[in-house]
Amino acid sequence: MQKEGLLAYFGGRQVPLADARISVLTHAFLYGTAVFEGIRGYRSATGSEVLIFRLREHYQRLERSGRILSIRIQQDVETLCRLTVDLVAANHFREDIYIRPIVYKSAERIGVHLSDESDLVIVTVPFGKYLEDERPLALGVSSWRRTEDNAIPSRAKVNGSYVNLSLAASEARASGFDEAILLNEDGHVSEAAGMNLYLVRDGRLITPSVSANLLEGVTRDSIRTLAQEELGLRVEERQVDRTELYIADEAFLVGTAAQVAPVGSIDRRPLGDGKTGPITVRLKDLYGRVARGQVSKYASWITRVAG
Ligand code: PMP
Repeated sequence: MQKEGLLAYFGGRQVPLADARISVLTHAFLYGTAVFEGIRGYRSATGSEVLIFRLREHYQRLERSGRILSIRIQQDVETLCRLTVDLVAANHFREDIYIRPIVYKSAERIGVHLSDESDLVIVTVPFGKYLEDERPLALGVSSWRRTEDNAIPSRAKVNGSYVNLSLAASEARASGFDEAILLNEDGHVSEAAGMNLYLVRDGRLITPSVSANLLEGVTRDSIRTLAQEELGLRVEERQVDRTELYIADEAFLVGTAAQVAPVGSIDRRPLGDGKTGPITVRLKDLYGRVARGQVSKYASWITRVAG
């Protein structure tokens, strides 16, 4: 990753990324007590702007994650958006980017409770594809279960909780899969490691409900809107059994980093003919055009940054 010359927002101002450093005694480093977001910015077709996708919705989720973790974010959503736009502009990017705001427990102290203040850091880096290639993914159901709402809530995007997903993602790769699907303790489908999941059955979209210990994804929401509004599809949000994974006609993962990623097989059972299904193709294409600001109806989802 190219880091030279990049600016970050740290300590209340823009500083060289190399100077955005924290002590090893920082509470967030010791205990994972931080909340974060992952946001994409796409270089416009003309090359003159960066188009940030659903910036406001990401900061609204950050604020909600903070509330769950007793982190009161000092800046309101408007201010967070403005700081981000200023930072992206100052970095003069020529490519697609990823934006990672983190609000972290910054006290340097031993002891797990959450009473201290927190600080904001925003890092922006050039970012291309997240998943290796365009081939439909081979998914495997993980032996690791998704953390429960009453243990480490998945609804909040908490840094420390990603250990759960790291274990599942590593196990999947070691077993020859591309990615993992995690089940809840009750055996129902939750989400993939850093992505939500959609199934297609008989022309309907199905996605696990928000009470399945998942992150309420911005892409999940975007896809639901596009599927309903633009393709006229029915979308069901409900409890999903493991065996429904095996009999789906199509499946795809959705997330800021992964965008829309087709699934070819689950637990080595091919879905359909194992190729990217027709509904997946249409949604992937539509999402790509919307996120890159090419569909005027969804212009309100895009924040344009000149520079
Ligand atoms: N689930 C988890 C656990 C994630 O980390 C992410 C990525 N933020 C997602 C789902 C997808 O969410 P979004 O579409 O908002 O990026």
